[in-house]
Amino acid sequence: MIITEKKPNKSLTKKALLRVEGLKTYFPVKGGIFNKTIGHVKAVNDISFSVKRGETFGIVGESGSGKSTLGQTILRLQKPTSGKIIFQEEDITNLSDLQVRKYRRHMQMVFQDPYASLNPRMKVGSLIEEPMIVHGLGSSDERKKKVAQLIETVGLPSDAILKYPHEFSGGQRQRIGIARALSINPQLIIADEPVSALDVSIQSQVLNLLRDLQEEFDLTYLFIAHDLSVVKHISDRIGVMYLGKIVELSSKTSLYENPLHPYTQSLLSAIPVPDPHAKRERIILQGDIPNPTNPPSGCVFRTRCPSAYERCRQESPTLTHHGEGHYVACHLYTDLKNEVEK
Ligand code: SF4
Repeated sequence: MIITEKKPNKSLTKKALLRVEGLKTYFPVKGGIFNKTIGHVKAVNDISFSVKRGETFGIVGESGSGKSTLGQTILRLQKPTSGKIIFQEEDITNLSDLQVRKYRRHMQMVFQDPYASLNPRMKVGSLIEEPMIVHGLGSSDERKKKVAQLIETVGLPSDAILKYPHEFSGGQRQRIGIARALSINPQLIIADEPVSALDVSIQSQVLNLLRDLQEEFDLTYLFIAHDLSVVKHISDRIGVMYLGKIVELSSKTSLYENPLHPYTQSLLSAIPVPDPHAKRERIILQGDIPNPTNPPSGCVFRTRCPSAYERCRQESPTLTHHGEGHYVACHLYTDLKNEVEK
């Protein structure tokens, strides 16, 4: 099955539904005989971006880049250390758990492993109905009607209502997870690696379903993945994350046609090219992503970057605009610009 490309998004002239400003999520590291805080894991380290209504913003990065923590922090499942989360023009960063519940109705998460996120003792009908009960939506009859509609919308058989999650395949379980998320009419869906655990053939079916649902329900997606080939078909813009920071941010087209950051270039070089005659040099990075409790000085990517030079060790590059909404955090481009302007 082929993944159909997302149509150009007409809603991109709309206002931002979500804005994240200088967001940091640090986790304390305890140690010593008094179990004191001896450091921090800087999982999300000064991240800013916005997502417009109807847009799909892809976040890509290796495991350990902080992308899942970013999603959880936006949903306020993790407490932000500093920065701002602005949803529908409201600053929700420091709302109490009770106050944040009101916003959770508009923001839902679709998880990587649908089986782990679905209570195995509940039937599918009850699993989809549960969020509506939690948020006090509709009468019992209205909820049952909505469950039946959603089962059909996500392409599950009508008798799924009376079955348990273990009776379904991985792809079908992800459809149950999606129906559950949709049950309370959210505006923003944070999809955390929603197809990573599925076979490639099933991945495309679920991606096509997500794209169709976006058009039908005017949904906004924050789509988290470790693989640029997955986000390519569904995203309007993409942010590439490395060790808690966004190192490149741009429209999908600009990112795939003209990747600027050496990390993005290496991720793209790993995607197989459909044309057997087309050549693409594979850039293999040395080593693993560094420990986030002790990130490298200067540019966080410098220990693996094939282009690193002295300045990279001393100074952290900032995300800088390089035209047409394409931002990159790399000294190569500011130094190049300075050279040209001399
Ligand atoms: Fe590589 Fe230096 Fe650019 Fe970082 S700033 S990506 S180390 S060239």
